[in-house]
Amino acid sequence: MANNVERARAIIASRREAAEKDAERKRLELETVSPELKEVNEKIKKSGIDAFRAVMLGNKGTEIIENLKNQSIALKAQRIEILKSFGLPEDTLEIHYTCPECEDTGEKGNYYCECFKSLVKQLQLENLCSCAPAKESTFANFSLDFYNGFIDETTGANARERMSQIYNYCKNWAEDFSKDSPSILMYGNTGLGKTHLSLAIANVVVEKGYNVIYSSAGNLFSKLEKEKFGKINFDESPEEQVLTVDLLILDDLGSEFSTQFTIATVYNIINTRILSGLPTIINTNLLYDEIGDKYNPRVYSRLIGDYQMLEFIGADIRQLKAD
Ligand SMILES: [Zn+2]
Repeated sequence: MANNVERARAIIASRREAAEKDAERKRLELETVSPELKEVNEKIKKSGIDAFRAVMLGNKGTEIIENLKNQSIALKAQRIEILKSFGLPEDTLEIHYTCPECEDTGEKGNYYCECFKSLVKQLQLENLCSCAPAKESTFANFSLDFYNGFIDETTGANARERMSQIYNYCKNWAEDFSKDSPSILMYGNTGLGKTHLSLAIANVVVEKGYNVIYSSAGNLFSKLEKEKFGKINFDESPEEQVLTVDLLILDDLGSEFSTQFTIATVYNIINTRILSGLPTIINTNLLYDEIGDKYNPRVYSRLIGDYQMLEFIGADIRQLKAD
């Protein structure tokens, strides 16, 4: 726990540093292109220092401060005009923090900011499941080229077109994520990018400050089963966390060794999260009707009724990459 708080502090500090460096880099870049901008920036800086000195003068400084304030407003307006002439938004030179609420300090007054609490919780979850989403799978490095030229034999669907739709759907889904987002079932043969897109979604949603559990079905079920007999060391049991986390992503459902426990657990997870209105992403190599056979017909009807179905098609990418 203490360890997670320390890690969260370090992560937030590095976010802050990155945001500040980024703003600084942008400023220097623009100043080399526009000497006028550089001049205005220097004047704004100087008027800030002068104002600080005037404060030290006490009452005598009041008029000076008033003048400097007006001067600074005029200079900032001038700066906005310069930025506009470059077609840049007004806030280009401001620091863009991940959390504008606390400007990436993790604190608001004497309290922890929500972003900090959420980050600590996310780290706890990742320890719990050893299921941190792999950072290297992103939307940016998902290639649609692997789907070129593949036509699905049964439906005649074009893989590149289909996958481009699925890609856009997932990207928008992640960017617009809220606890009301619809659940998703990704199905289709192995090696078509289901895991990659699930991870890309997880990374975006975590970055937005939500808590995500990402786990292969096999790992998660064995964790949950052990916990039934083991000690509970957490405020919330792992089962509660799985049922209540903002987003649960269950990778490769159906690959786990099937037992009465796994069958009951799958139904419980899907059903409880639907009833609580929380989004879940499941990806599986099983076909539609195989899901009903392997689990429970009620699972199948729950999925059909409530999940957005995304059917992945194409040739096995891992195979293509190997060739
Ligand atoms: Zn914050």
